[in-house]
Amino acid sequence: HKAKQEKNSVELYRREVNDVYLRNYRIEQLLRGAVSQNELYMQYQPQVDRRGHLIGVEALLRWQSPEMGFIPPDQFIAIAESSGLMPLLGEFVINRTLQEMRSLQDQLDQSFSVAINISVRQLMQANFASLLTQQVTAGGFQPQQIVLEITENLFIEDMNNVSKVVIDLRNRGFNISLDDFGTGYSSLSVLQKLPIDELKVDKSFVDYIDRDEKARKMIKNIIAIGKNYGMSVLAEGVESEHQMRMLQNFGCDYFQGYWFARPLAVEDLRRYVLQNNKQFNDAKPFNASQP
Ligand code: C2E
Ligand code: MG
Ligand code: MG
Ligand code: MG
Repeated sequence: HKAKQEKNSVELYRREVNDVYLRNYRIEQLLRGAVSQNELYMQYQPQVDRRGHLIGVEALLRWQSPEMGFIPPDQFIAIAESSGLMPLLGEFVINRTLQEMRSLQDQLDQSFSVAINISVRQLMQANFASLLTQQVTAGGFQPQQIVLEITENLFIEDMNNVSKVVIDLRNRGFNISLDDFGTGYSSLSVLQKLPIDELKVDKSFVDYIDRDEKARKMIKNIIAIGKNYGMSVLAEGVESEHQMRMLQNFGCDYFQGYWFARPLAVEDLRRYVLQNNKQFNDAKPFNASQP
């Protein structure tokens, strides 16, 4: 009986592996046409300071496939990386983001920073730093207004070459943010060797902030590291007021998460910014009355 059960579960496992394999294979095939067939688009998630005022957005890639429905980036970015499609997607992300954020900031007559996720394969393209600088300036932004989110796992690949590119980008004025900090295989020496402006506390720590003393300690440590190295700290995945208050008490500088806003299409972001300004201005008469 037991042997039969085991055999069944092995079968089930085999079938699941096979399903994942087939699905990934199909994703790779479809991804090739996704750019030209206009299936990709961007959403932008607000980032706020300790007073709740908008300071920037993170650009997040979206894919609505006619055949497979909505596929989250967690599922297709890795496939794009391994199949050589990442440079193509990366180009799309950079072009579309610059275009949409330039026209929105012009429309609102307001500037805020724009964070773009950069993957290893993108970063290692020939002349990435100088090409990006050209694109950004041609798109009407200065590198100082752009945040490049990189993950620590980037450095296991090719520490020396990756470091050179990151240093080059930083010298050109880009802000460097270390995404998903604490979840990867980095060593703290990365922080010592590289010019990093911001640490992002990963959602997986924030998720447990009100339940798990270890998660709390981890967050406090990340914030302390950030402060000691003169970096700012942004927490992602903030979903409740309680989480936000705790992060504030720990000294976190910036916040991003569903509690403030979900990733938004550009038109919804426009409305969000107007609303956010209004809130902020309504609170102002208090200051305005002071000489
Ligand atoms: P990430 O850079 O850490 O992005 C944050 C993720 O957390 C986003 O998921 C965002 O929608 C989600 N998130 C933010 N706040 C909350 C919250 O309060 N609750 C919950 N449940 N989730 C929240 P998304 O958009 O699915 O992206 C997943 C990952 O895919 C990103 O993680 C990033 O590593 C990658 N990715 C997304 N867009 C791009 C891109 O344009 N280029 C590259 N290279 N990677 C990208
Ligand atoms: Mg990110
Ligand atoms: Mg992140
Ligand atoms: Mg994350």
